[in-house]
Amino acid sequence: MQFEDLTIAHIKDRTEEVGDCWIWQQGSTNGYPQMKVQGRCCKLVRRMVVELDGRPAQPRQPVVVTCGEARCVNPAHLKATSISDAGKRAAERGAWKGKARAAKIARTRRANVNKKLDMDKAREIRMSTILGMDPGANTGVATFIGGKLATLATIAPNEIERVLREVMPARVVFEDSRLQSHTWTRGKSGAASAKMARNVGQVDAWCFLITAVCGELGIAAHGVSPAGKGAKVNAERFAALTGWTGASNEHTRDAAMVAWPYRGAK
Ligand SMILES: [Zn+2]
Repeated sequence: MQFEDLTIAHIKDRTEEVGDCWIWQQGSTNGYPQMKVQGRCCKLVRRMVVELDGRPAQPRQPVVVTCGEARCVNPAHLKATSISDAGKRAAERGAWKGKARAAKIARTRRANVNKKLDMDKAREIRMSTILGMDPGANTGVATFIGGKLATLATIAPNEIERVLREVMPARVVFEDSRLQSHTWTRGKSGAASAKMARNVGQVDAWCFLITAVCGELGIAAHGVSPAGKGAKVNAERFAALTGWTGASNEHTRDAAMVAWPYRGAK
């Protein structure tokens, strides 16, 4: 049959009506209804139907069904559409579920690799983080990362535990008042001696807290005797020694100096 002789009625004769769908009963290619027509290279029935219906599709314009029946050729259920619309319809049918799933798996795999890299990086930073602490009413905290002095801070004793839990350093080096004999606490008066003893007792308690929290968290902690930590340094000497250019006070300098010999410890 020549295309010129073809009518929509001819096509309908080759279908079975199911509801208002015309289900193609003859050959198909990849599920697309097809028929032999002479003088035409395009033998796809859908394309011929829309052309016979006076709505010819452009050469690269897909003709899709709007009823969901892949083999339907009812002109009322066919329309020429854009390639991207055809893609959307195919996606709605789930045609790309396999590909979409594979892409999603690949994305998740990449995300997991990145997450692992982030965790490795965080672990590496943590493992090279060493805290120096000088416990007291104003507790000095110095953070060394990779052997370099990174931060100085002064915190209240009640913040010691929170800081340890948040920073989770590999090691804590602190000035341990418990390692010093307290003979010097004999003051001039009984009241002065009692006050000094109370203060010393408090610092001892904060040292105990550091040891206990580090023990719980699996952080290596070691106390350095106040006598063994060396002389106090002023801001200028401190800057020259550590390269620290920011502000410092006696508490933060003490914290940094107590950990200084251990700053690169593994
Ligand atoms: Zn239909």
